[in-house]
Amino acid sequence: MQRSFKRSDRKDQVNPKLHVRRDDTVVVISGESKGKHGKVLKAFPKLGRVIVESVAVVTKHQKARAQGQPGGIIHKESAIDASNVLLVCPKCGKATRNAHKFSADGSKSRACKKCGALIDA
Ligand SMILES: [Zn+2]
Repeated sequence: MQRSFKRSDRKDQVNPKLHVRRDDTVVVISGESKGKHGKVLKAFPKLGRVIVESVAVVTKHQKARAQGQPGGIIHKESAIDASNVLLVCPKCGKATRNAHKFSADGSKSRACKKCGALIDA
C-alpha cells in the first residue's frame, strides 16, 4: 500500500524540514498567486507551510483590542503550502529545486540544481 503524506503526517516525522527557509526568495508555482515572487517571512516546518511576502494577502476586519492595537481593516499574509513554492537561486535567478552538496567537513548545504551554486554560504 502506498504511504500518503498528508499535512497531518508531517508533524510525526522526527525532523521535519522544508526546502525553503526564512529570508529565502521563492516563486509561487501553484494557486491564486501563481508566478509571484516574494521573500519567505516565516516558515512552519511542522505544518509544511510558509508565509510569503505579499502572497495570499487576506483582508481582516479586526476589532480594537488592548491599547496600541487599533481596530480596522488590516491586510495580512496568510500561510500557503510549502509545496506550492520553489526556491529562487540567488546566483542565477532561476526557480530551482534543491540539490544537496557536502562540504569537506561533512556538513550538508543546499545547492542550485540549475547552476550548482551553493545557496547556504
Ligand atoms: Zn542557480
